[in-house]
Amino acid sequence: MAMILYGVIAGNKVFMDKCSASSLIEGKNIKLTKQRKAVLESILKRDEPFCASDLYESTEYNIDLATIYRNLEIFFNEGIVRRVINENDRQYYELACEHNPPHPHFLCTSCGKIYCIKNISSLNKIKRILPDGFSTEQTLLQFKGLCPKCN
Ligand SMILES: [Zn+2]
Ligand SMILES: [Zn+2]
Ligand SMILES: [Zn+2]
Repeated sequence: MAMILYGVIAGNKVFMDKCSASSLIEGKNIKLTKQRKAVLESILKRDEPFCASDLYESTEYNIDLATIYRNLEIFFNEGIVRRVINENDRQYYELACEHNPPHPHFLCTSCGKIYCIKNISSLNKIKRILPDGFSTEQTLLQFKGLCPKCN
């Protein structure tokens, strides 16, 4: 279920257009420790899929890689992040908040960049290829090939 947060500025209701570390864990079964906050803030700065070592390199404070892996697993179980592509033993994640609905991804086999394909109108059609009796919890759609820069 999507959660909508409002803030009040000069008496007007404004749609909160960005999540914060504390809004992401609201209603979840986890505490916002200092480390968790740092990891979440590092995630919030990204607009592309990331893996644990990307966060390890960019997160302030000295948070070891094992802690980042553990927190990503917790965030995944709480529905804060979703798993996208898994390539060469690297699991890539992205934020799973209301601002980032599920969408397909394109992995460039030359430069390794992962592109978010935000044209999702066809995703609902794809779900309809399932025969009756199947219910979907997750739809993962990924493309592999060459991106425009490498083509
Ligand atoms: Zn958000
Ligand atoms: Zn490329
Ligand atoms: Zn994406």
